[in-house]
Amino acid sequence: MKFISYNNTSFKKTKYYLKLPDQEREVFDILSSVFHFKVNAYVLEYLINWDAIPNDPIYKLIFPRKEMLQPVDYKALRLLYQSGLDDKTLMPFIQKVKKKMYPEVKHCETSIPKINGVRVKGMYSNFETIVSLFPDPMAKTCHSYCSYCFRWIMFNNKEAQQNSSYKDPNEPVAFLKAHPEISDVLFTGADPLVLKAKTLQKYIDPVLDIDSVKVIRISSKSLGWWPYRFTTDQDADELLELFRYIQSKGKHLNLCAHFTHVRELENSVVKEAIKRIRETGTVIRCQGPIVEGINDTPEDWSALWNAQIAHGMVPYYMFIEADHNSESCFRIPLAKALQIFQTAQKQTTGLARTVRGPVFMNDLHRTLLDGIITIDGQQYFVLKSLQAPPNMAGEGTIKLIPYSETTKDAGDLIALFSKESKEETLPVLNLNETA
Ligand code: SF4
Repeated sequence: MKFISYNNTSFKKTKYYLKLPDQEREVFDILSSVFHFKVNAYVLEYLINWDAIPNDPIYKLIFPRKEMLQPVDYKALRLLYQSGLDDKTLMPFIQKVKKKMYPEVKHCETSIPKINGVRVKGMYSNFETIVSLFPDPMAKTCHSYCSYCFRWIMFNNKEAQQNSSYKDPNEPVAFLKAHPEISDVLFTGADPLVLKAKTLQKYIDPVLDIDSVKVIRISSKSLGWWPYRFTTDQDADELLELFRYIQSKGKHLNLCAHFTHVRELENSVVKEAIKRIRETGTVIRCQGPIVEGINDTPEDWSALWNAQIAHGMVPYYMFIEADHNSESCFRIPLAKALQIFQTAQKQTTGLARTVRGPVFMNDLHRTLLDGIITIDGQQYFVLKSLQAPPNMAGEGTIKLIPYSETTKDAGDLIALFSKESKEETLPVLNLNETA
């Protein structure tokens, strides 16, 4: 299949635009000018069930929903659209609305590595043994865009891309050599596997020569959005050869595959792609967020994990959506997320016992929502810091926050796990007491 992608303008020329119900078409016209929109022919033809829109989960995974905007902004934008103004005239207002929606990423100063006071570009060091790298070409785009993605600010935004990425493939080398405690390097972006194998190799090669780096991780949703990347793309074989080459250098290669719904695993091409990747020795660990209206039942998750295990992959994390403004409409109550996780685990083969979740995709901590406990008649959520930056206290500690059936937000987790936090800390807690 040939890779053809559509943006908010070109999608309107496809037959699929005409399949949108009137109300959905209006939301698309209004919101696709504010938010990112990109979809490819495989997703349109083989993943979305057009007979089930607007409730189809993959449709919801691609198309914007009006709740992404504040009601007042949506109303104002709708009025402007209805008045027939062209996009150019509307642009200043759109930019204003967009600016309000900029995700607040709380990377603190100390997670930005420096050498002699000079910032190492495109590197983030949140945890002691791992760094994330954003090479410039990897930060640009994905095979399709997820409606809930908080990285939308990077798409089509040269300034944001330049500020957060690096161009010289050797940029991270000096820092990694000076920090032998860093064993894992994560290549991330947007989606690194949009790139040609040759370009990927140019950026991965310098890291392979560093002995203390033992694990190369590549974060990607290409198995879901464009599995042909590993089968019939012109350089698919070259990409798989690169996977073998990385391992021939003595590194463990981990593909962090982002899956949201079991349908992404049902077509024969994705099964073939997984098989080809696994034949190289690469381990595929799977992660994805729990999202309102897309995968918010235990059956969604047990089906997803069972399929991942059946195909030889490892279920790894169930994330809770990051709290970056527009994502809040994709969140579900914490109590419901926990119940879905626990029920789904019971419905899945025992091999899914190692999956962690629900885990907050906080910018600085990995925090597990681990259960509910009752103390003196009061219910609490039990939160555990799985990982914290070396400069911040809290890793491994447990904190309690008041239970609520409806809350979608655990508050400021960075403050909660900081040394100064006045919240109750229970370093040893019997979770068998969970309600
Ligand atoms: S594939 Fe990843 S980076 Fe790309 S839009 Fe989806 S969540 Fe965002």
